[in-house]
Formats: sequence, structure tokens, C-alpha cells
Amino acid sequence: MFQKDLLKWYDKNARPLIFREKKEAYSIWISEIMAQQTRIEAMLPYYRRFIEKYPDIQSLSQADDDDLTKLWQGLGYYNRVRNMKKCAIECMDCYQGSLPKTKAELKKLPGIGDYTAGAIASIAYDEKVSAVDGNVIRVFSRLYNITEDVKQTKVKKKIEQLVEASLADPVSSYNQALMELGALVCIPKNPRCAACPIQKDCKAYLEGDPSKLPMQPKKKERRKEDKIYYVLVCKDRIHLVQRPKTGLLSGLYGFDEQKPEHIVNQMELKEHIHVFSHVEWIMKGYLCEVDSMTENFYTIDQIHEQFSIPSAFLPFLKQTERYIKENKICQKL
Ligand code: SF4
Repeated sequence: MFQKDLLKWYDKNARPLIFREKKEAYSIWISEIMAQQTRIEAMLPYYRRFIEKYPDIQSLSQADDDDLTKLWQGLGYYNRVRNMKKCAIECMDCYQGSLPKTKAELKKLPGIGDYTAGAIASIAYDEKVSAVDGNVIRVFSRLYNITEDVKQTKVKKKIEQLVEASLADPVSSYNQALMELGALVCIPKNPRCAACPIQKDCKAYLEGDPSKLPMQPKKKERRKEDKIYYVLVCKDRIHLVQRPKTGLLSGLYGFDEQKPEHIVNQMELKEHIHVFSHVEWIMKGYLCEVDSMTENFYTIDQIHEQFSIPSAFLPFLKQTERYIKENKICQKL
């Protein structure tokens, strides 16, 4: 069977990653949530900063919400970091400041799904449970030449059962070896079968076409929405608006959607498109100089130090910064 070959390969080829140094539930949890939204190499600086500021569950449970989203800026999916704080609070209240030790208990916590629970329980606590993410689904769909749509619940279930039945000791290394194989060798396009340690057991390699797997339904086209934002500027200060508590980019800071009444000067900002998973915003923007400041006007330095500006708004912010720094006067209305 392939498990022995896979473990041997992992022993020699595992990347030396900072969060794998200690088998410690907190660091594994943070790294797994971050890795859901970006490549490991890109997430490492975020991970280091996060652990430095919030080294344990207690400090995370007491984190200031704006500081937390500021630290997460650039990773997107801000609900994940909010759920991490909720989870930390629950761990303080119910588990004496630690993450619980079983997959079943971990899955009940905010923001921890089946995969993350399996990863924490198996890697940190050696519980013999699976951790099935996109990488593992890809590896198993190829290993067993599964040509049905892996988004279907019954097909996903079948793969989960195959992974569960394949679990080998030590489970912590086995689960990480599967993830690592998916990340380094059994990659989405052009899998590196020639260098694969489990090639002789791989049905898709022997009988099919690995590069066509996993089979997935065609992606639906994203909905397109037109948006107009007004970046209000008074002297060297920019007006920020906190977004509503629900919906896309909820609770983060952006610009006004209502045109202000007393505009002294106005100029059009460069239009751009911001892509979310299911929707695209076609974003038009206007820099509007106003003659008086109400609340929530900030200098550029204050904005960078105190606020988390989502990447959807960064192009407008950068253009505005440039205009303020160059002291350009907007086109007269
Ligand atoms: Fe993936 Fe190729 Fe290895 Fe099969 S042989 S598991 S397709 S890399």
C-alpha cells in the first residue's frame, strides 16, 4: 500500500515550516485558517506578525477588533479572524484557555470546520482522524481515479471515507504528508507524476488522465455590480466610513456612497474591478474636496496606523494619497 512510501517521502521532503516546529494546537489553528486563503509562502509574514501580537488564546480573546482586522489586512475573508476571536473567547470560558482535544469538540467552535478540526486534532493531539481539504480531495480523486463531480455530497463523502480508511500511523505525519503531496507534487495543473512517491498505486496515473481530475462542475459566472464611491478630502485629511455590520466587507472601513453636498473641487479616480468569490464590483470613484470637516476625517498616517482598509478600496486610497502629497488641486467643477 502507498502509506509507507508516502511517509518515507514526507520524512525527507517536508518543508521546514515555522508552525510545524512545535506540535502545538494554537499555532496549527492559526496557520490552518490563514492557509485557507493564501499560499503558505505568502502567509508566513502574516503568521509571524499575528503570533507576535497574539501569542496565545488569552491574548487573542482580548484583542481589539480594529487591531485584529488591521493585522489581517491583505488576507481577505475578515469573518474568519472575527470568528477566531469568538472561538478564543469560548475556549477561555469553556476549555480553560486551550483548544479542546478532539475533532468532535473542535468542530463545535466558531469558525472551525471539519477540515481544520481534523488538522488540529490529528497534528497537535495525535487523534486518529482525517483532515480532508482541497489538496487531499485532489490526491484521492486521482489515486482512485474518481471521475464523478467532487462537489457532489455523495462523492465528497466517498472520498472522506477512503481517506478515513487509509489513515496510517503516525497520523500527524500521515495527514501532513497528504497535504504536502497535494501542495508540492500532486498539484492542480500538470501533476509531477514522475516525482511522485505513490505513482505505482495511483489509478489515474495508470489508467486515466490525472490532469483532468478532480472533476468539478463549470463555475457559474460572477454577478457584476456597479459601485460609486466618493472619497471626501479636506486639507490633508480623508473621510472614512465604517461599513454596515452585515454583507460584504462588513464592519471594515471604506468611503462614502452618498455624494456630498458641498463639493469645492472634484476629480474622477481611475475605475477598477474588484473580484470577490461570487460577485465583481465595477468600481467608479470621485475624489471630492470639501470645505469643512465633520467627524471621521483622518490623516494618511492615521489611516495606515489605525485602520484596516480592504483591498477593494486601496486603489482609490492610493490615488488620493498621491494627490494630497503632491498637493494637486482638483479640477474646478
Ligand atoms: Fe498525483 Fe500523479 Fe502521484 Fe497520481 S501519480 S498521486 S496523479 S502526482
